[in-house]
Amino acid sequence: MKMLNVTINGITTKVREGTTVMEAAAELGIDIPALCYLKGVNEVGSCRICVVEVKGARTLQASCVLPVSEGMEVQTESPSVVTARKEILKLILANHPNDCLTCNKAGECKLQEYAYRYGVKFEEHQGKRKELGIDTSNPYIYRDNDKCILCGRCVSMCAKVPERSVLAFGNRGFETTVIADNNKTMGESDCVSCARCISVCPVGALMDSRAMNIGRIWELQRENVKCAACESGCDFELIKKNGKVVAVRALAAGEGRPLCLKGRLTVDLTYNDNPKAPLVKKDGEFVEATWAEALGLEKILGKM
Ligand code: SF4
Ligand code: SF4
Ligand code: SF4
Repeated sequence: MKMLNVTINGITTKVREGTTVMEAAAELGIDIPALCYLKGVNEVGSCRICVVEVKGARTLQASCVLPVSEGMEVQTESPSVVTARKEILKLILANHPNDCLTCNKAGECKLQEYAYRYGVKFEEHQGKRKELGIDTSNPYIYRDNDKCILCGRCVSMCAKVPERSVLAFGNRGFETTVIADNNKTMGESDCVSCARCISVCPVGALMDSRAMNIGRIWELQRENVKCAACESGCDFELIKKNGKVVAVRALAAGEGRPLCLKGRLTVDLTYNDNPKAPLVKKDGEFVEATWAEALGLEKILGKM
């Protein structure tokens, strides 16, 4: 494998040919912000928050899709890079609810993290804002499209669910939004409640309904566990408060990781100190089921 020399923020290192600038920076412990990038799933370079300055290049470059070339010299936090990132954050926040105080994603939201990192505040905005409302029609998924930053991660991730491609971008321009099955609610759509989209959303636009309103992030502890429902062993986290497991969440699914509702319910039943009754979809409606039914009847789970 050919090795290439690259200098990032004054530090020279060798990386394998094909390594992106973002990956090379990560190898040096340099964190480049990313909102849309998701390795192997969404490598589109669309949010532009990962731009860097490359010596000799006329414009800033998206580091997530930029392969290292021999002798490349990169600055990841130069004044022009920082200015560009601030502008991107301002643009996103201009059409975003000012809801960090009560948002369940606060403390682990990438938009909030980067706004803090670059000192960008919510500003009074006179223009139009999205008012799409909240979709709770699927009892496992809380969808707030007003908080969506159109990163595309969920769309790309959902396209990887076998025989499903529920999510897509709909409408155009200012009206662009993520839609389910050509503009159905999540509950009406063919969504199988696998939680893959939730696991990759960088903001509070897609949340696990059953892991909301359980406390602020500093009151909660986490423990990683593997699902034992099948040989895939998907990753979940137990969320604990005062020593008790109060919720279970699917962790980000990488390429080839299945994640499914059956696994999520299995982890819930196994570990949660007070699991909520499972709901399965029958004749288009979510109805309460016994655990045996929810975990054992593949036919019903396959349709959810
Ligand atoms: S999604 Fe993030 S930035 Fe938006 S309100 Fe929630 S915590 Fe704040
Ligand atoms: S829960 Fe799964 S099937 Fe449903 S929209 Fe998300 S990724 Fe797609
Ligand atoms: S719902 Fe979340 S993951 Fe999907 S496009 Fe919006 S911000 Fe990105």
